[in-house]
Formats: sequence, C-alpha cells, structure tokens
Amino acid sequence: MHGTYNLWLVAASLVVASLASFTALDISGRIAMLQQSRMRHVWLAGGAASMGIGIWSMHFIGVLAFELPIPLGYDFGITTGSLVIAIVVSYFALWVINGAKLTARRLIISSVAMGIGIAAMHYTGDAAMQMVPAIQYDPWLFAASILIAIGASGAALWIARTLADVTQDKVVEKRLIAAVVMGIAITGMHYTGNAAANFLPNSICGAANSVDGRWLATTVALFTLAILSITLVLSRYDARTSVLAGSVSRLNGQIVRMASFDTLTDLPNRRTMTERMERAIKNALAGGSRFAILFMDLDGFKTINDSLGHTVGDEVLKAFSKRLLQCVRGGDTVARLGGDEFVVMLENLNVPTDAEKMAERILEVMRQGLVASGHPLQVMPSIGIALFPQDGASVDELLKHADVAMYEAKRGGRSTYRFFEASMNEAAVRTLQIQQALHDALGSNFFYLLFQPKFRGKSGELAGAEALIRLNHPELGMLGPMEFIPIAERSGQIVQIGYWVVRETCKHISQWRTEGRPPVKVAVNLSPRQMTETDLVQNMIRIVREQGVSPDLIMFEITETVAMQDAPRTIEMIHAFQESGFEIAIDDFGTGYSSLAYLQRFRAKQLKIDRFFTNGLDENGQEGRAIVSAIIALAHSLDMDVVAEGVETGSQLDRLEDMMCDEMQGFLLAKPLSADAFGDLLVPKTVSA
Ligand code: C2E
Ligand code: CA
Ligand code: CA
Repeated sequence: MHGTYNLWLVAASLVVASLASFTALDISGRIAMLQQSRMRHVWLAGGAASMGIGIWSMHFIGVLAFELPIPLGYDFGITTGSLVIAIVVSYFALWVINGAKLTARRLIISSVAMGIGIAAMHYTGDAAMQMVPAIQYDPWLFAASILIAIGASGAALWIARTLADVTQDKVVEKRLIAAVVMGIAITGMHYTGNAAANFLPNSICGAANSVDGRWLATTVALFTLAILSITLVLSRYDARTSVLAGSVSRLNGQIVRMASFDTLTDLPNRRTMTERMERAIKNALAGGSRFAILFMDLDGFKTINDSLGHTVGDEVLKAFSKRLLQCVRGGDTVARLGGDEFVVMLENLNVPTDAEKMAERILEVMRQGLVASGHPLQVMPSIGIALFPQDGASVDELLKHADVAMYEAKRGGRSTYRFFEASMNEAAVRTLQIQQALHDALGSNFFYLLFQPKFRGKSGELAGAEALIRLNHPELGMLGPMEFIPIAERSGQIVQIGYWVVRETCKHISQWRTEGRPPVKVAVNLSPRQMTETDLVQNMIRIVREQGVSPDLIMFEITETVAMQDAPRTIEMIHAFQESGFEIAIDDFGTGYSSLAYLQRFRAKQLKIDRFFTNGLDENGQEGRAIVSAIIALAHSLDMDVVAEGVETGSQLDRLEDMMCDEMQGFLLAKPLSADAFGDLLVPKTVSA
C-alpha cells in the first residue's frame, strides 16, 4: 500500500522545524546571558517545552503529510507520549548547550542520546496510528534515520553552542541560517523514517476513530506556531531586559580579565601565575614529573625608563614579552609579575638541561636587539632558574629561589643565567639582612663617615679628603661599603644614602669651620644609580645650601667606567655640577676604557689613578712605571690634577713624586680617619706647634 505526500504539509513541517530550531537557538543565547539560576531554570524549562512541541509538531505534520488511501487517526495516549519524549529530548539539548564545556566526548555522547530520543519520538508517533497489521520497517532506512537523527543532533548542539555567545557579530543572521540547516536535518530524519515504514496491503488504522487526522493537522500546526511565536516574543522581550545583565556580565568578564592578566603585555599576571604554579605542583606531585621556573628581569631597564621615558619603557616590555612568547613551547606559561620581572614556567621537564636550553635560547633571541619607539635597543635579561621539586616545595619558595639565582646571574656579569644553589640562599639571606639594615640605618643614624686625607706631592701638605661611608649596625656589626654599596645600588637605597653622605659631609665641614679650622675640600663618591636621577644636581645644590656650605668645597668622584657608559649624558651632568660650583674627579682611572675625546670634554678637575697602577709601580717594574707616568702626562696635558690612590710604600711615594703626581692618598700617609681625628689634622701648624 503506497501513500502520497501532501506537499503543502511537507513545506509546513520544514517551516515549523526551522522555527523550532530558531527558537531553541534564541533561547540558548538567552540562557547563556542569565546569571540568576532561578531565571535560567525557568527559561530552560519553558524553552524545552516550546522546542519539544516544535519538533514534535513538525514530526506530526510530517506524518499527516503522508496520506494513505484509508482513514487515519491517532491514539491520544501514545501521541501525548511522543510529545513528552520530544520535550524531554529538548530539555536535554538545552541543558547540554548551556552546561559545562562542550568537549568532543560530551558532544558525541549528547548527540547519540538526543538522536535516539528524536527517533524514539518519531517511531512512538508512528505507533500512535495502531496499524493492523503492524508497520514493517526497512532495516537500512530505519538505521539511516537514526544516524541522521544523531548527526542532525550533533550539528544542532554544536551550532547552538557556538551561537550561544550573544556578543558575536550578526548573531541573528547566523542563527537564522543555522535554524534552517537544523530544520532540514530534523525533517530529513523524519522523511527517512517515513520511507522506512512499509504499510502492508489492507492495513487498517486501529486509531482511525480516535482523533480525526485533518482536524489534528490544522490544530497542531496553528498551536505550534502560536507557541513558538509567543516563546520568541518573550525571548526577544527578555533579551532587552537582559542586555543590561549581559553588559554587566561582559564588564564582569573584563574585570576578571584585568585581575588575571597584565594590561600592558596581556600576559598572565602574578596572581594567575601563582595559580598555575600551584596546579603545576599538584600535577607534578601526582605524575612524579618536574618543572622549572625561569625568573628574569631586564638589565638596565631603569636607565632606559629614566633616559628615554616611560613610553619607550612600556614598548620595551611589550617587545620583550612578545619575544619571550616566541621562545617557549605550547604548554609553557609566560607571565609578567610586575615592573620588568617576567617568569617562564616549563612543565613536564625531562631533564634540567631543558631549562638551560630555554634560558640560552631566550638570551640568544634577545641578543638580536629590538626596536622600541624607533630606538634600536639591546635589552638583555638575567635569568635565575629554580626546579621543582628540588629547589622548593611551594610557589613562594620557588619564586624566591629563582629570584635569588637571578641575582647571582646579575652578579656573574648580567645577561646570563644561573641555577639556584643552596649556598646562594645564604648570600641572599645576608643581602636581605643588609637591605633591612640599610633601611634601619637611614632612620636611626647607623651610618657614619670617615675621611681619608689626600696630600700634595712635593710639599706633603694636606690637600683635602675623601669621605668614605661606614655602617655600624647593632645586629650585623660593622659593614664596609664594598659589601653594602652594591646592595644599596641594586635596591635603589643608594640614592637616599648618597644625599645623606653629602649632607653629613657638609655638617662636618661646618663643624670644622665653627671649630676655627681652615676650610677643606672633601671628595664624595657618586654611584651609577645616583647618576640616573634626573634632579641629582638640583638636589645636591639644595643640600649644600641648606647646610650653608659653599659648593666649591665638595668634589664628586665618578668612576671612569660609569662616566664612559653614557658619555654624552655624563658630560651634561658634569657641566651642570661645574656650573653650580662643584668640582668633579674621575675615579679609579685606568680600569675603564676611556676615549680621550670624552676625557677632554669632561673637563674634570682631577684624575684618580686606580690603586692597581700604584701597586704596579713596585710590582711591575719598568712597565708599571711607564704606564703611570703616561697617565700623569696625559692628565696634565688635559689640564687635570692627578691623584694616586692606595699609596702603601715609600718607594711608591718617591716614584710618584718624581713623576710629578699632584696628590697622594693611601695607608702609608693616612688611613681613613674619624671626623674628629681628621679635624685635628686641619689645625694650622702654627697653632698646634
Ligand atoms: P674608592 O672610591 O676607590 O675609595 C677608596 C678605597 O680605598 C677606600 O675603601 C679606602 O679605604 C681604600 N684605601 C685607601 N687607601 C688605601 C691603601 O693604601 N691601600 C688599600 N688597599 N686600600 C686603600 P673603602 O672605604 O672600603 O671604600 C671602598 C669603596 O666603596 C670606595 O672605593 C667607593 O667606591 C665606595 N664608597 C665608599 N664610600 C662611599 C660613599 O659614600 N658613596 C658611594 N657611592 N660609594 C662609596
Ligand atoms: Ca673614590
Ligand atoms: Ca678609587
């Protein structure tokens, strides 16, 4: 027995299926925006009901489109049953679309469940006709219809999931197209199912007297259209009220993003890094694996920031973070902890040398240089490496130890890397103690100055002094500048300490003055970090003025190496000092690589020959003497006085005098003295005699 299709009804079934799909997609978007769980639930239930009715009525209209040459009817109970199945399937679908992350596995399982659900609804619907003899199904087409149902469900779930994000462009258009695709898929399943059904000759419809087919078709179609339309209108209306909620949730998303990512570089921030490290620790413990933390900061970043400005500094950080990302593998984490501090986490490390390779690679890439705001720069990191589990059991410990290793890398000449070692920890503890001691010292007067006299070559008269700082800490005891100045330099505390030294020097000069002693010139050391302070000269002027001391009694010593680092800037600064009345000496001469052109342009008052060369006068024989005499001749030709440092023996003194060295400083003549002891040297000979 063959049936025919009523094409109008077939078309209607397609429209209804597409409309049902569109409603479902629209509702999913709505549910995705809803924060409140109660409203979510209402929409989920309501959405499932209208979508279920939609699919069911599509199916039903499809069934009615099929006309058999015998009277047809439907059993009310079974028909209702198929509707319930449709609603349950729809609920399930909406739940999947809006639930947890749709992994491939979840998608497959859900599609199979949903496909079988739809097929169950379809064949339950067929059963409502109660054909006698029963409908016979072609097994291949039957299987095909189930497969189509599963495939269509998978596509529907995937599309709906993707389109649930209401912030996309042209979301309504995309949903319309997707709805038609889904409609075709659902209808396709239905008609394949129908094709599978074989009505045997002389079948009678057992339900023919239950509900009249034609009446049912019209009612169902209208009813469904009404329900779907109402649902859509409600969903749209609710959308408007939800837009606010939506923008709040977007804002919320932004806040979450800001809290987790660094705004400048878009890298994970400290908080996120901490979380990821905690997870890495758990994973490593569970899997018996290890991971590495590479802690780095940029050498000389402060100088770039100070001299080229913050915009360039920001560009450098961005460029650096990009390079860093190029170096790492897919699963590695790169984070910016703040300032110029970056961390790379390498998980699932096979051997520690992998971390080493990564460090080398980063250094290699950075050596190529970068361009920030048109400035070609070479910005190199120093890298410290800590390994889990051997170098620390917690995030804090690992980061601290990687940081400690990084400082070792810096001490080892910068632009290099170091693995953490336990001995570094002791050094780091000492460094921290000293940093704290420096902090205490500024507040509590634990610093004091010694003054080492300088004498004139031929006459042996007192020519001045060099102020040398000491720290006497109640717990750490006496500390020399060789130990704490580099630490103060790194922490930036040197800036405040430097101002203290000048103020204290001025106080002593005034004190000697009030004691009736003749005025004396005192040299004060400047360290590299102080030289980057833009208002250094003004601050120094202010300090000497406050203390009522004439600037020409203060001479600043700048080491040759530092002076040559950025010679044009040094020239500017030296001239600013000189214009204000201060004098300048080039310290530790011979250890840097001076360019004569610059040396001339510095127009410094003094050149201090490094202790190494003074020592060489005795030790290196003829050659040692030739060097010193050349330096002296050079200085004189540039109109500078020469001071020999570290004069320890009489023969050194004699030779220096022969070479016309202007001033001598060293243990042979005087050790660094207390302010009082030095003051006593100042008393005019006539008085003391
Ligand atoms: P420097 O500027 O080269 O200072 C001279 C250092 O040589 C002083 O060591 C001094 O005690 C030492 N010295 C003097 N005569 C002799 C000698 O005949 N033989 C030997 N072997 N050494 C001699 P000190 O006081 O330990 O200072 C070391 C360094 O610390 C200084 O080297 C200077 O770079 C730095 N420093 C000292 N005071 C200050 C300060 O107030 N500010 C800054 N920024 N640095 C300072
Ligand atoms: Ca010095
Ligand atoms: Ca020196």
